[in-house]
Amino acid sequence: MEEERAALTRRIAGERISILFGLAEDNQLGRPELADRYSHLIREIAMHYRIKLQQRVSAQICRGCGAFLVPGRTAWVRIVAKQRLRILRCTRCGREKKLYY
Ligand SMILES: [Zn+2]
Repeated sequence: MEEERAALTRRIAGERISILFGLAEDNQLGRPELADRYSHLIREIAMHYRIKLQQRVSAQICRGCGAFLVPGRTAWVRIVAKQRLRILRCTRCGREKKLYY
């Protein structure tokens, strides 16, 4: 019973994360401060319920400051083709995120 309840809470938290991610994507250009707030909430929910974020979600959230990373706006992008590596650098805090492709 307790395990079912825990699974249900985690599933609901996962749904909330996907809703918030959709909202963050919608607001990334018009109201970037809202997108940052949503990505901050996504991180808090994921940490509280110990949910592993999907790669496409975690790739857009800065681990340093929680900003919503938009390549060319809130993040600089550098490509290292030899290593098949994409480096996103947060313009707010400067933390780098390495993404292999
Ligand atoms: Zn940052």
